[in-house]
Amino acid sequence: HKPLLEIKNLKAYFHTRKGRLPAVDGVDLKVEPGEIIGIVGESGSGKSVMSQSILRLHEYNSPIDYEGEILFEGEDILSMSKLKLREVRGNRIAIIFQDPLTSLNPVYTVGNQLDEVLTQHKKLSAADARRRTIELLKKTGIASPERCVRQYPHELSGGMQQRIMIAMALACEPKLLIADEPTTALDVTIQAQILELILELNRELGTAVLLITHDMGVLSEACTSVRVMYLGQVVEEAETDELFENPLHPYTKGLLQSIPRMNYDRTKELHVIPGTVPPLSEIPSGCHFSTRCPYAEARCFQREPPIFDAQGENHWVKCWLAKEELL
Ligand code: SF4
Ligand code: MG
Repeated sequence: HKPLLEIKNLKAYFHTRKGRLPAVDGVDLKVEPGEIIGIVGESGSGKSVMSQSILRLHEYNSPIDYEGEILFEGEDILSMSKLKLREVRGNRIAIIFQDPLTSLNPVYTVGNQLDEVLTQHKKLSAADARRRTIELLKKTGIASPERCVRQYPHELSGGMQQRIMIAMALACEPKLLIADEPTTALDVTIQAQILELILELNRELGTAVLLITHDMGVLSEACTSVRVMYLGQVVEEAETDELFENPLHPYTKGLLQSIPRMNYDRTKELHVIPGTVPPLSEIPSGCHFSTRCPYAEARCFQREPPIFDAQGENHWVKCWLAKEELL
């Protein structure tokens, strides 16, 4: 049996004036068909770089090199030709970002962009494509699709733009959807609707979802399991319920304490854990979290902890202290 996606010891290095810096530092991740996996961490934790590596998106704007393997349906994306990769992208793997305008083409109408996806990837005729486009827009909750097809992306609200991105993803019927902070820039009611659309895509088409967020609330609503990232590494992973009931890593505990009790502005990132994620040029030796961890001891600054089996529901944790509390 092969998982849909299997990432093995992935490292992604940026080349900068300060040297070759590891934005992703040894990540392993398996995604089974139809699963919804949450990736959580503050800005700078490497969650976006990691997820964008799956489509090698960085190659286009910054010098980066990869080590390890990213097997999608058994084929290594890191060694694919650009032509083959283009076929995978948008057809078998779709991606949506926090800012939909980075993916929508400003000079084409919404209708033309959706039609193009359908004629290219689904080989529909122009007339069938337009009919399907209207259907898809309706499905994503757009009230007047006939008007929407004639509009340009910048004429639409952020929530509408994100609906268009989801319609594009629906058009391709991808096996995997990577959603990188898809709701962060939106207001609270629209956030809930967009999240619900993503869950529908998962239920109806069996699309697996990698949901990148810094919002613990979104995680608990949507995901079956969670990976917590800090400075390029997965520091804890578990089934969602287990992670919320029995968090073991001090960083995960800090993130969980940052969940506010009542309504709040989810567009603001919360900083309950003292300090900020250090830059990649200043990764601490030993445990990456040692400079912010309230429990850090001498060994934490000297030796990097391996990832220990916490003996729970697929529960793993990268911390010396958590290891001992388990014993
Ligand atoms: Fe904190 Fe040490 Fe655990 Fe790192 S290994 S999270 S510094 S207790
Ligand atoms: Mg990000």
